[in-house]
Amino acid sequence: MDIDKNIDTVVDYLLNTDNVSVLTGAGISAESGISTFRDPDGLWSKFNPQELASIDGFMSNPELVWSWYQYRVNIVNNSIPNPGHYALAEFQNLIKNFSLITQNVDGLHQRAGSKNVVELHGSIVRNKCFDCNKIHTSKIVEHNKISNCIYCNGKIRPDVVWFGEILPRHEIELAQIYAENSKVYFSVGTSAEVYPAADLPLIAKRNGAKLIEINPNDTQLTSFVDVKINLNSGIALPLILEKYKEKKGI
Ligand code: NAD
Ligand code: ZN
Repeated sequence: MDIDKNIDTVVDYLLNTDNVSVLTGAGISAESGISTFRDPDGLWSKFNPQELASIDGFMSNPELVWSWYQYRVNIVNNSIPNPGHYALAEFQNLIKNFSLITQNVDGLHQRAGSKNVVELHGSIVRNKCFDCNKIHTSKIVEHNKISNCIYCNGKIRPDVVWFGEILPRHEIELAQIYAENSKVYFSVGTSAEVYPAADLPLIAKRNGAKLIEINPNDTQLTSFVDVKINLNSGIALPLILEKYKEKKGI
């Protein structure tokens, strides 16, 4: 099937339902200049995940972990959403039950206008206390010195899910409910290697959803999908949106 035909098929799915969910991963932000993790030039080819994104790593060297997150926060602050993020934000206004679930921690979906984004892995835009869990929004690192929690003096850490940690309960439960109830499910820009997020598209498929993957590369999900679109999401999603609006006459 060629790309135009695949896009037509996806648009037909969308025209026939009010229940759509989208799971996004690092790939959707690649065109905003934010590196993915597992691609050949991704961040994990240059850095050691166990040192930078784990409780043990943080406990043994909080300064190193903080400087890595400061580095990534700076990149995110200097990035802007791309047409893929904007297309998803617009879809939310056009489809009655449209949920957006992301593994990303960069906040770009919200900056593009998406509402009620389910953040499975937290956000680097927020920090929290390691001990009492309170969210801290004030500046944490001043002149390379990390401040402590004002409530309990605990260490402050980024509000992200590290290796070995469990996902926030409310978010994963919500994501599972969306997966079970969607009629059309998109997996966009994710390598589908990080669990439990990687299970969500398969839960949707088992419950009867049409499954679509948007990714220029194949993943372990590819053999299960109904439609594969081999394009960057910043190209594919606006194409789908335009065709959808055209066919709806809006
Ligand atoms: P991943 O790095 O494992 O995989 C990225 C996937 O995106 C690959 O399959 C790749 O082929 C695809 N891709 C690359 N460019 C693309 C494009 N332009 N359009 C569509 N697809 C493209 O990422 P993951 O599956 O999200 O898992 C990584 C974990 O790392 C997540 O838990 C996430 O929290 C975290 N992470 C987040 C960010 C971010 O917030 N932007 C960045 C890196 C990693
Ligand atoms: Zn505290």
